[in-house]
Amino acid sequence: MIDAPRLNIDLGKLHHNASFLVERLATRGISVTGITKAALGSAKIASAMLRAGISSLGDSRVENIEAMRQAQLAATMVLIRSPMLSQVDRVVRHVDISFNTEIEVIRRLSRAAKQAARVHGVVLMIELGDLREGIMPDDLLGTVREMLSLPNICFKGLGTNLACRSGVCPDEKNMALLSELVAAIESTFGLKVEIVSGGNSANLQWALSGAKTGRINDLRLGEAILLGRETLYRQPIDGLHTDAITLTAEVIEAKTKPSKPTGQIAQAAFGEAPAAIDRGEVRQNILAIGQQDTDPCGLLPPAGTQVMGASSDHLILETDDEKLPVGKEVTFQLNYSALVRSMTSPFVAKVNKSCPQTMNNEKGNP
Ligand SMILES: *Cc1c(COP(=O)(O)O)cnc(C)c1O
Repeated sequence: MIDAPRLNIDLGKLHHNASFLVERLATRGISVTGITKAALGSAKIASAMLRAGISSLGDSRVENIEAMRQAQLAATMVLIRSPMLSQVDRVVRHVDISFNTEIEVIRRLSRAAKQAARVHGVVLMIELGDLREGIMPDDLLGTVREMLSLPNICFKGLGTNLACRSGVCPDEKNMALLSELVAAIESTFGLKVEIVSGGNSANLQWALSGAKTGRINDLRLGEAILLGRETLYRQPIDGLHTDAITLTAEVIEAKTKPSKPTGQIAQAAFGEAPAAIDRGEVRQNILAIGQQDTDPCGLLPPAGTQVMGASSDHLILETDDEKLPVGKEVTFQLNYSALVRSMTSPFVAKVNKSCPQTMNNEKGNP
């Protein structure tokens, strides 16, 4: 028996998704940094990305990058979240390039890199409207000037991140502004900006639309590779698999029950109870999976079934026709939120679909 609940990871489909995007973007002069944070730094998933022609891997957590280093992956390792001051020593030891927005952090990276006798690469992130991380464009030249004076720091390039906090779309205007900032730095300081990282999976529509890509020569792709969707409208991308990773859970109870609860209604396990509407009797199945293992709202159930709610360890799945037999497995597609939570749950096994024994025994990092 294979464990349940489990993530079924199809490395062949992930490889296909990655290589399809690498090839498409290459025609636009854009390389891909494979983002592994939603895969908990899985060495097997990262390897599939590298085999697809990706040469640099990005993660927001230094712990995941350390795991990929341990696995001896031959890639440039990029920390895509600003380093914590408490982690600068680990960062300079294991990470080639980090994304930064605070000069104080870069000063401390410089000191740590000097101590470790290493050179640390820095990409500066620019705020272009989404209001998450980023240096305000007016402050950019001053930050670059000070950074260039710091020992053991190598200025690698500029980046921006949209569509994460506020859903701001990458478009010709904000992307052109990024290219203009690159040109301003080059003319002011007489240097060449090597990496211009235009954004994440939300940039695909812009990048493949035929719009001028300007100086942008790299995108950071996670969700598009893992789940086969663009992230502005969460539509499947033609030619990609949306089921490269699926989630399987097991039925532990199946009964015909009333749809309307009996008694006075107060809060449920996770706050407000849903409105109690009488839909007559329903076929209610309980699956052994819950909020501890995934985001129940992010599960796409098989046809003829609906997710009606979940507590920590129980998921309620109604079936239109027959109840499901106890012990039956049900497989879901996932959204990003469900994927991240399942990947990080120690209760969810990670199984290599084409070779079920090989991922399973690596709890934590699949
Ligand atoms: C998560 C993240 C990405 C990848 O985003 P996807 O939507 O998964 O492609 C890229 N850049 C940064 C800074 C991120 O935090």
